[in-house]
Amino acid sequence: MKDDAEYKEFYEGMVEKGLIIPTGVKGTFGRGKLFEEVVQCFNDLVTRIAENDNADVCFFPPVIDRKIMEKVHYLETFPHLCGSVHSFFGSERDARQLAEEAEKGGKWGDLLEQTDVVLSPAACYPVYPTLTGTVPADGRLVTVFNWVYRHEPSDEPTRLQSFRMREFIRIGTPEQVVPWRDMWLQRGLDILHSLKLPATSDVASDPFFGRGGKMRSISQRDQKFKFEVLIPVISTTEPTAVCSFNYHHNHFGTAFDIFTEDGQIAHTACMGFGMERVAMALFKTHGLDHSKWPAEVRDLLWPNT
Ligand code: AMP
Ligand code: ZN
Repeated sequence: MKDDAEYKEFYEGMVEKGLIIPTGVKGTFGRGKLFEEVVQCFNDLVTRIAENDNADVCFFPPVIDRKIMEKVHYLETFPHLCGSVHSFFGSERDARQLAEEAEKGGKWGDLLEQTDVVLSPAACYPVYPTLTGTVPADGRLVTVFNWVYRHEPSDEPTRLQSFRMREFIRIGTPEQVVPWRDMWLQRGLDILHSLKLPATSDVASDPFFGRGGKMRSISQRDQKFKFEVLIPVISTTEPTAVCSFNYHHNHFGTAFDIFTEDGQIAHTACMGFGMERVAMALFKTHGLDHSKWPAEVRDLLWPNT
C-alpha cells in the first residue's frame, strides 16, 4: 500500500527546499537549481559509463510526427496516455468565438484542429523512422535525452505528465539486441547500486489499455519483454520503477521497414532512465540536503569538485 501521508511529506519537503516548484496541474511541477543539477550529474555519469559503447548521440524536439504514433498502433495500445497538439485554423469570426469560449472557461478545445504533431510518449520514438533501410552488420546503437508526455495526472510526486528519459536504443539481429538488453539490465543496477540506492530488478509490463490490454500485459510478462529496476521512493512496499529495459521484438522494425544485412526485419530494444525518478530516489534515500550525501555518491555525481 502506498502511504499518502509519507509521500505528501516527501513532496512538501522537496517544495520547501526549492527542489521542485508546484504549478497547480498534477504531474507538471517545475524544477529548482539543485534538482536539475542532480538530473544533469546523473545523466553525465551514465554518459561516462557508456562512453566506450560509442552510441550515436541524437537530439529531437518533444513533439513527433503524428504518423509515428499511428504506425506503431499507439492509439490501440495506449490511447489513455496520448497527448496530441491541436491548433487554430479558423476565420476571424471563429477566433472571436474561441477567445470568448476561453474567457468563460468553456470547451474551447472543440474549436481547435489536429496538427501534424503529437507529444512524444517515449524518448526513443523519433529514432526508429530515421533507420528505415538496412542497418550495418553490427547493428546500430543510439542514445537520446528528451522530454516525454504521458497523460497520467496524479498526486504522487513520482508520477508525472511531463518528464525526461535518457535512453539507449539498440537495433540489429535478436542475437545482438537481447544480450545487449541483458547487459544494460545489470549495468543499470550496478550504476544505481554505486550510488548506494536500494535498487532491485523485476520482470514488468506496460499499462496497456482496456480488456485486450490485460492479455497484452500477461503475454509481455510471460515473454520477459520488459524489465524494470525499482527503488522505494514513495512507498516501501510498492517501489518505483526508475528505469526500464524493453525488448520490442520486430515491432518497430516492421513499422518502419528496418532490415538487418541478411534481409530480415530488424529487432529493437531500448533502455531508459526516468530522470526525475532517479533524482527523487537520490533525495529520498540520502536526504534532501545533498551536502550530507555519502562521499562516494557525491564523488560519482560531482567528479570535479
Ligand atoms: P517506460 O517507457 O514506460 O518503460 O518508461 C521508462 C521510464 O520512465 C520508467 O522506468 C520510469 O522511470 C519513467 N517513467 C515512466 N512513467 C513515468 C511517469 N508518469 N512519471 C515519471 N517517470 C515515469
Ligand atoms: Zn524506448
